[in-house]
Amino acid sequence: MIKEVVAVLEGMFTVLKHLVQPPVTIQYPEEKRPFAQRFKGRHELKRYDNGLEKCIGCALCAAACPADAIWVEAAENTDEERYSPGERYARTYEINMLRCIFCGYCEDACPTEAIVLEDHYELSYYDRRSAIFTKEMLLVPPPPGAPDTPIRVKPGMFDRAIPEMEDPK
Ligand code: SF4
Ligand code: SF4
Repeated sequence: MIKEVVAVLEGMFTVLKHLVQPPVTIQYPEEKRPFAQRFKGRHELKRYDNGLEKCIGCALCAAACPADAIWVEAAENTDEERYSPGERYARTYEINMLRCIFCGYCEDACPTEAIVLEDHYELSYYDRRSAIFTKEMLLVPPPPGAPDTPIRVKPGMFDRAIPEMEDPK
C-alpha cells in the first residue's frame, strides 16, 4: 500500500516539476525553430548582384542527380534579351520534390553556384503536379535596385558563362 502511495506522489511531483519549467513545444507556424547550419531544404536558383541569373542551362545538376529529379531545357541568350552571362540560360528548370532526396549533389555539380539548397522545409502537396517546382518558383527575386531578366545589354558585355571563382583553399 505504501509503495503505491509513494508511486502516486512521485508521479504528482513529476507533473508539478514540469508545470514550472519552460514549455518544450513551439507554436508552429507562428514560431519557427532556427536550423542547423548544414540543414538542406528546398532549393533556390540564385542571381548575380546585377540581376542576371546564375544558371546557364548546362544541365550538369540534372546529370548529377541520383533521383532524376531535375529537368533543364536551355535556350540561347542574346544581348537584347539576356537572362544569364554566356551563351545560354535555362528556359525551363524544374525539380520534382517527390523525387528529391536532398543530397545536394546538384549543388556540388553546378559550375556557377546557381542552385543552392536553402532552409525551406514547408513542402506539402495535394497532388503530384504541385510537387514540381518550376523556375518561376525557384528563382530568387533580383537584388534591390537590379532589373529583372531578361535584360538588354551592350553587345559582348557578358560573353563568359562561368565567372572567375575564388580558390577554395
Ligand atoms: S538534392 Fe539531390 S536528389 Fe535533390 S535535386 Fe539535388 S541532386 Fe537531385
Ligand atoms: S543550376 Fe547549375 S548545373 Fe544546373 S543547369 Fe543551371 S548552371 Fe547548370
